[in-house]
Amino acid sequence: MSKVIITVAPTGAWPSKKDNPAIPFTPKEIAEDVLACWKAGAAMAHLHMRDDNGQGTMCKEKFKETVALIRESCDIIINLTTSGDLNATDETRMEHLTEIVPEVASYDCGTMNWSHNSVFYNTPPFLEKLGNHMRELGVKPEVEIFDAGMVYNSFHYLKLGVLKAPIHYQFVLGVPGGMDATVKNLVFLQSLIPPDATWSALGVGRGHIPIMLTALAMGGHVRVGMEDNVYIDKGVLANGNTQFVERAARIIGEVNKTPATPAEARAILGLGKPGGDK
Ligand code: ZN
Repeated sequence: MSKVIITVAPTGAWPSKKDNPAIPFTPKEIAEDVLACWKAGAAMAHLHMRDDNGQGTMCKEKFKETVALIRESCDIIINLTTSGDLNATDETRMEHLTEIVPEVASYDCGTMNWSHNSVFYNTPPFLEKLGNHMRELGVKPEVEIFDAGMVYNSFHYLKLGVLKAPIHYQFVLGVPGGMDATVKNLVFLQSLIPPDATWSALGVGRGHIPIMLTALAMGGHVRVGMEDNVYIDKGVLANGNTQFVERAARIIGEVNKTPATPAEARAILGLGKPGGDK
């Protein structure tokens, strides 16, 4: 694979302005940042919203406003979180999808202890509801994997018909409560997935660069941005999301690959087929 999809995750639900003042929070800030990241080579934007106090929210009005601004400015693939607030209900985790119909949305394939302080619920009934809802809308799930059991969960939902092949996986490594961001873990996880699957990976913290380099060496795609990392280097805060995208694009070039355009990423991920059956 010579084309590499760079996904930017500019905001997330957790990092605060105290962690890094450059994190975009408002719809306008997020949309402007995403446009700059698209210019720097990002083909997909994974979006979370913040409320007026800076807390993660599933407020669909914020999602609608942000997505409208982005769609006016560029053709980046929109990938919406379904997990932007641990207190959200099953319904508020899905209703923004109904109104916006993004091309991609996250599908967190199991429940886990989150950062040693809370529980990230993705119950069996919710995963069935969410998968069926996304399939009916034609939204492609990005199956997020935090540990190996979640890969096996994805096979269960594939067998049930809740998920459809080929699956697109995002390996999210280095979150406390999940698998650590190590090369061995990524190699192991990637060995489990079906041959027709596409995949991307990210490492939080120290594992950011090793996971990116390993994903590139193994033919995967990459995710960068301040949802996952607020430091661009040890002890050095990033000055914005574009700094991460620019570095990823540079590294991709160094290994004789090129960042996929949104159109190329759509082809790789099988998005945009007629009939709404993406
Ligand atoms: Zn996210």
